[in-house]
This record gives sequence, C-alpha cells and structure tokens, in this order.
Amino acid sequence: MKLDAKALRYMSTEDFRVLTAIEIGSRNHDIVPAPLIAQLSRLRSGGINKFITDLIKRKLIASESSSKYVGYKLVYAGYDYLALKTLSKRGSVASVGNQIGVGKESDIFVIAGDNEEQAVLKLHRLGRLSFRNVKNKRDYFRPDQSPSWMYMSRLSAMKEYAFMQVLHQHGFPVPKPIDQNRHCIVMELLDAHPLRQIEKIGEPGKLYSELMDLIVRLAKHGLIHGDFNEFNILIRDDGSPILIDFPQMVSTSHANAEFYFNRDVDCIRTFFKRRFGYESVLYPKFALDANKEFDLDVQVAASGFTKKEQTQLEAFMESEQVGDSNTTPHSHDEEEDEDLPSDEEIVYADDNDNDGSEDDRETGRVNEDDASDSDDDD
Ligand code: ADP
Ligand code: MG
Repeated sequence: MKLDAKALRYMSTEDFRVLTAIEIGSRNHDIVPAPLIAQLSRLRSGGINKFITDLIKRKLIASESSSKYVGYKLVYAGYDYLALKTLSKRGSVASVGNQIGVGKESDIFVIAGDNEEQAVLKLHRLGRLSFRNVKNKRDYFRPDQSPSWMYMSRLSAMKEYAFMQVLHQHGFPVPKPIDQNRHCIVMELLDAHPLRQIEKIGEPGKLYSELMDLIVRLAKHGLIHGDFNEFNILIRDDGSPILIDFPQMVSTSHANAEFYFNRDVDCIRTFFKRRFGYESVLYPKFALDANKEFDLDVQVAASGFTKKEQTQLEAFMESEQVGDSNTTPHSHDEEEDEDLPSDEEIVYADDNDNDGSEDDRETGRVNEDDASDSDDDD
C-alpha cells in the first residue's frame, strides 16, 4: 500500500476535525452517521458535507450504507494519516522514504525523524485480506462492537511495541523501539538481512546454537516468540542474529505454550536442514528447557497492554492465522471474558490534538447515547 505523505501537508483544520470525529465515532459505530460526525467535530451539521466530500475524494474515508442510514468510515489511508500526524507532531517521523517490506499484515517504510536519523515505520494491517472467522470469536467483543481492522491493527502495534520495549530493556537482540501510535510503530533501522535471504554461512552450527539459546533465554524470561523463523530473524554482517516481529508472542504460561515453543524450535531445525544441510541431535524441549526464572510476560502485562487486549488479539490472530508460521492448535482454553471498559463516553480533545490515546479522554466529554444502532460490517 502506498503511503501518501503529501496528504499530510494539504489538510485543513476542519478536515482533520472531521477525520478525527469519524475515528472516534468508529469506537461505537461501524458506519458513523453524519449527525454524530457534526457533533463530535463541533462543526455545524450543514457545514460538514464539504469536508466529508473532500475526504472521500482523497480516499481517506469511504461512505457506506447500512440498512438504517448512510454513514462514513475510515479507510486505511485515513488511519495512516491520523497516526502520521501524531508521530510527526512528536518528531518521530519527519519524512517517509522507501517501502522496504510488505507483509501479509504490515507495510514497512524507511523514515527519518526530526533528528534526521533514519528509522523504520511499521504499519500494522490486520484484516487486510479478510475477516474470515471473526464471527466465531464474537465472544471476545461486545455485541455492539465488531472487531474492526482498525482496532485489531492498533492492538497488534501496541502489543509489538510493549514487547519490543521490555525485550530491549532486558538486553535481547531486538530493534530499539522509538515510538508508537495507533497501528504504527517506529523502531531502529537495522543494518541486517533476513535469514531467509542468506544462502551460505561459515558456521551454521554456531548460528543454530545461538538461535536455540535465544529461544531458551526467552522462555526462561517467560516468553515464546511464536513466529520464530527465517523471515523474522535478521542477520547482521558480523553474523549475529536480531529478532523482529512480536505481535504473536505468548507467555510460557499460555495454555498452548508447549505447542508454540516446539513450533519455534522446529522452524529453525527445518530451515537449517533444508538450507544449510545442518542437523543436530541437540535442540531444546519445552518440558526440560523452558523453566521460567524471570517474568517478562508479567512485565509486559503491566506495561499497559492488558490481558483482555491480549486475549482479543490472540483470538483474532488464531481465527485469521496471522503470522508466517500459520498453523495454530485447535483447542484454546477460553480465558475469562471480563467486561470491556466503557467507551460509551466518547471525547473530543478541544485542542485538535487527538492522538488516539487514553490521555485524550480529558476534555469536552460528549455522551453518545445511540450506540445500539451500530451495524455489523463483515
Ligand atoms: P510482518 O509482520 O509483515 O512479517 P516484519 O516485522 O516481520 O513484518 O517485517 C517485515 C520485513 O521488513 C522484515 O523481514 C525485514 O526485511 C524488514 N524489517 C522489519 N523491521 C526492520 C527493521 N527494524 N530494520 C530493517 N528491516 C526491517
Ligand atoms: Mg515477519
């Protein structure tokens, strides 16, 4: 997907208010009706049409009809815009350069921040392909709230950032996290290549051991990568590995921890055999080697990415088979389904500075009382 950085420059305050209002309205409405947009944007009802038309023309929003009314929804470009606006205000993104990766669930760009240093912007794009089995996972969501691509992509970015921070703080070889907003994370640009692209190495046994040690070290810290493979391991020129891509990480206390652990180990064994003709009788086993000594899994949970969000994201990822190693165990113990925090009370930040975070819920409270007429869009 192209990222139109230029759109950032040509946006009036009113356009931005309308776009933000649609984002906020989306928390309770799959399709946001015009009167609600007017209310949330604090613009006159008659006045918003011009801005809506403009945003549709720029392909930042789309109009859609439900059985009850015509309304509007954000599309990815609009959500990108809002995130980039916030990141650029914070100085984390000043310019967007080449796209260096396009995955099933992300777009990756080289960017530069205000400090002119290059970095990587990863835009999470869950649900880009489809929302296949989401209906089966409705239990994890409120009845009036369908799991939207926007919400799931944001959760995915929040989770990846939370794990990257904790792993980086504890000296694991991962990119340095720089910033996160909505579905985007900014991280260090690594001078390294995916293991997948490496045809030959001097000592496959050495790298093999390093990678297995990494799996074990993670487990000793209470964590399993869950997608530990040649796509998500980058190799520096000096041969050292760096681990990326964390949205599917799980705790070693997860009901299917052993399955995920063994799958990570098997991915490496299979790849080394196929690519380098290297086989070893030595490989870690969950029962023997995954003894937890430190609880980074608990630290991540304390970092603001809640257990409920974790459960929702996991359910979605399983149903969509997100990740490169895309087989998942069939049974999955249902975790306690706590009530979602109420977002009936929605808020518009007066200073036009909404960055989608909880901090924005301070000023100008607007009660949205017609959340019940939300329609499903999948
Ligand atoms: P996805 O979730 O789509 O698999 P990844 O995080 O695995 O996304 O990144 C996809 C590709 O982008 C990687 O294989 C790598 O080539 C490149 N990439 C990702 N992060 C970085 C980074 N910090 N520095 C350099 N390249 C990166
Ligand atoms: Mg990946």
